[in-house]
Amino acid sequence: MKYLSLVLFIFVASVSNALTLEKYNKKPKLVVVMVIDQFRADYLTKYQKEFMPVGAKNEVGGFNYLISKGAYFPFAEYDVLQSMTCPGHAMISTGSHPYFTGISLNEWYDVSAKKKTYCAEDSEFGMSPRRLKTSTFGDELKNVSESSKVIAVALKDRSSIMLGGHRSDVTLWMDQVDLKWITSTYYQKEVPAWAKTVNERIVKSGVFKNREEAKKLLMTPVGVELTREIAEAALKSEKLGKNGQTDILAVSFSSHDMAGHTYGPNSPELKAMTLAEDKEISKFLTAIKNHMGSLNDVVIALTADHGVAPSVDYAQASKLDSGRIEYLAMYKKIYERLDQKFGRPSKEWISAGVSFNFYLNPEALKERKVTVEQVEAEVKEAMTGMPGVLQIATSSEIAKNILPTGELGKQLTRQYIAGNNGNIILIPKPFYISKGEAPVNHMTGYAYDRTVPLIILGPKIKAGVYANQAKVIDLAPTLSFINGALPPATTTGRVLSEIFE
Ligand SMILES: [Zn+2]
Repeated sequence: MKYLSLVLFIFVASVSNALTLEKYNKKPKLVVVMVIDQFRADYLTKYQKEFMPVGAKNEVGGFNYLISKGAYFPFAEYDVLQSMTCPGHAMISTGSHPYFTGISLNEWYDVSAKKKTYCAEDSEFGMSPRRLKTSTFGDELKNVSESSKVIAVALKDRSSIMLGGHRSDVTLWMDQVDLKWITSTYYQKEVPAWAKTVNERIVKSGVFKNREEAKKLLMTPVGVELTREIAEAALKSEKLGKNGQTDILAVSFSSHDMAGHTYGPNSPELKAMTLAEDKEISKFLTAIKNHMGSLNDVVIALTADHGVAPSVDYAQASKLDSGRIEYLAMYKKIYERLDQKFGRPSKEWISAGVSFNFYLNPEALKERKVTVEQVEAEVKEAMTGMPGVLQIATSSEIAKNILPTGELGKQLTRQYIAGNNGNIILIPKPFYISKGEAPVNHMTGYAYDRTVPLIILGPKIKAGVYANQAKVIDLAPTLSFINGALPPATTTGRVLSEIFE
């Protein structure tokens, strides 16, 4: 009897998980991927009652439409040690961890060139995805249908570049000085005519009349509106979804992060931003529906590149142990110890500190005739026990597979790139951020930084709230599955098979 019920169970389970070949073979005409920068998971739950009702104002609806019609994973995760924009967008598009993407930080220090390297910078083209060392779901789609269009837009260059991948047809971002949509010659000589038209409209509208105020406007709902406008222009002018095969439109809304770093997630400014995003997403979805005639052949995904910590003031007022770690005060203690142990060099011991990664100065080590391993060990000793420091990882120890404890070690392994990451990586205690980089920040693998929503909706996809674990790296292989393409080359995510009906 037991055996029979087991057989029945396996039979039922296998039947309910299978898609019919007919459904599988029917590919979407358009895949729209939306990313909200710094959109922590609780924005959707906290303000849900204030979002537009589905179908209100003759529109499709915003977040309420997405969470009620889509497969909604309230707790999707970034399983890495440090959550930030460039690595996050690269993980979304490639389904891969940073050790594969080559992008473990937004920027890192190049010890031999003695300068910081930005994740999207390119000596030949200015900006390009050439530091991204693997393929994206858009790149893979082009293997099965070369004429598929792949378009990516965002205010931030690194966001659209990482989303668009290597073979994107159009990738646009906003020039932070000229305040117009631009691209690089990696993609094209100049932006398409429809982007020029939008740029002219922006100039005529006088929205950026006051240059001083202009950049501040990007961190208000104006930035969200501008992003929606350029995405809609791409949709219509490139006839996305109407080219006879699957097209991809990827949009990242950067304003949320720009404001979030100043005001923090618990501020009225970020509530206003979230409600504005709800309205803009409703307008955008309505434009897609009108353009396509219906949303029946459209797959829509929404996620974020990372979350954010509460502001230190908010955390302290909430009686949490929280604070700011000041690099210069830390260096003073470290240098005292190193000077005493090895003698004072004529150069600085540490060349740079970037996002809790510290890079030793090889010239100082050479002068004092000490090895990297010796210095790293002393720095680790000096930093251990400093306020806000939980653990310290060093490159020499990582090379010997001596890792931070438990989950921290796993998170580090998925992210770490020798040479990009620093000699010393500081793992802060929860609710500690670095002083001086931004008043509010995200740089850890803690739940507030790593937990984001993931929503996928479209034909074949079962609506509902999914309590099981999803990782953000599951999105790319899932989209590849839907598109009938290969998963990106180094995917470590899985196809979210439970969402299909
Ligand atoms: Zn940020």
